[in-house]
Amino acid sequence: MTAAVIGSGMAGILAAIELKNAGFDVVVFEKASQLGGTWRDNSYPGLSCDVPAHSYTFSFARNPDWSQHYAPGPEIREYFERVADDFGITPCIRFNSEVTSLEWNDTHWHLETSDGFTGDFPYVFAATGVLHHPNVPEFEGIDDFNGAVFHSARWDHSVSLDGKKIAVIGTGSTAVQITSALVDRVEEFSLFQRSAQWVLPAPNPEFSEEERTEFRNDPDAHEEYVRDLAITMFQRTSSAVTEPDSVEHQKISALCRRNLNTVADDDLRERLTPDHEPMCKRLIVSPDFYEKIQRPHAQLVTTSIERFTPNGIRTSDGVEHEFDVVVLATGFRSDRFIRPTRVIGVDNIDLDDVWSPSPLAYLSVMVPGFPNLFMLNGPNGPIGNFSLIEIAERQMSYCMKLIAQVDQSGLGSVVPTAEATEAFERDRRDAAKNTIWMSGCNSWYLDATGVPASWTFSYDRFVDEMAAPDMSAFALA
Ligand code: NAP
Repeated sequence: MTAAVIGSGMAGILAAIELKNAGFDVVVFEKASQLGGTWRDNSYPGLSCDVPAHSYTFSFARNPDWSQHYAPGPEIREYFERVADDFGITPCIRFNSEVTSLEWNDTHWHLETSDGFTGDFPYVFAATGVLHHPNVPEFEGIDDFNGAVFHSARWDHSVSLDGKKIAVIGTGSTAVQITSALVDRVEEFSLFQRSAQWVLPAPNPEFSEEERTEFRNDPDAHEEYVRDLAITMFQRTSSAVTEPDSVEHQKISALCRRNLNTVADDDLRERLTPDHEPMCKRLIVSPDFYEKIQRPHAQLVTTSIERFTPNGIRTSDGVEHEFDVVVLATGFRSDRFIRPTRVIGVDNIDLDDVWSPSPLAYLSVMVPGFPNLFMLNGPNGPIGNFSLIEIAERQMSYCMKLIAQVDQSGLGSVVPTAEATEAFERDRRDAAKNTIWMSGCNSWYLDATGVPASWTFSYDRFVDEMAAPDMSAFALA
């Protein structure tokens, strides 16, 4: 039996490996010419993962050789390329092949791609990523700008930066990493901040050769290290978002406030002070952001952007700021998921209609009316400062158990019931009221209705739910 996987990023590689292990032939459809998902698309200076490297690793392909506590982006991309090769996935990837349409025909998904492929698959895994479609604001006059302007996820490496006047728009995780990497390379650096962010100070030590050798030579001790790391991370972040009064939240909050107090200049510190609670927006992790933004040739611009001009950016106070390069670190359209692929389920329902105004999925993995279509890191799953790898592994294992149920039943498909999905969604929205994400800030965590587009329960509940499917929530046919 052949299964289709859409996307060859972290989750697509995982899905392909697990499906192959279960005896499936696999075709991975990848719209780009290389694998790696977000680690392929993002190549900006300073790119790294703010989840500890040993936690951001497949459980079945540990990597004793991570260079640092938080690994640099290129190293992560190489890791995924290596895993895809080692597990025989690379030859299964059909590159430059964007899935344009999926239609359920009672027993199979009829799949079509941009390069003319058509085929039928009993099972489809959408591993299309969350932060994939760049959010490019429509700034007036942007086309008349004489310098270079590009989104952080579409970095133009032909543009030289050294000794230039650079602007970065945005203050999310991306902008902060770019700031740390660029300030000391350029003549003038300006960061355009619409909202201030809380920054958790986190050193990023290198692993010594001795430590790496120890991980390599003693897999049990390495595994224990990874387990301890995960426990610390989850203990620290899980209740901090779902229980804003928790000790964990207070600890993170105190660290962020102490970090902000290292900014010497009163005016700059005030402008860098957020008007919301730590973790309402995604927590920024950085060892040196405040240090870099205090450099004499760096400036924080907090006056709103009026428009682009041929030479730079004019702010609403009438000041024209001249730049050679402007980077739009303005985030992503995080509600897209598998879209713009046209997905037509049972009775001709269109996923785009089901997901209007905001996407939903039963336990984040399946949508009623769309049998045998599984989503990894789909709508409303755990986000925040967790390892998406661990999350995808748990979801994948859950999906494989559903497929085993189909096999055992002798039938051909599985789909969550509308009732179970509605009840889950009701509970999820109810639980959202108590989370830190609704404590008064705007962020990509909120959906079009203002409710967090995430797992609003505890992480433990996610682990329990993913342990085994409750088949009373599904229909087999
Ligand atoms: P983001 O967190 O959504 O931040 C976008 C920034 O752009 C915000 O500061 C936003 O301001 C600003 N912005 C958007 N439109 C604007 C406009 N029209 N004018 C002025 N400012 C505008 O995006 P991101 O930094 O790319 O990060 C997205 C997510 O990627 C992160 O939350 C994280 O999950 C992930 N990420 C992870 C890592 C990692 O190390 N693991 C690194 C980078 C990114 P407002 O805040 O006012 O909306």
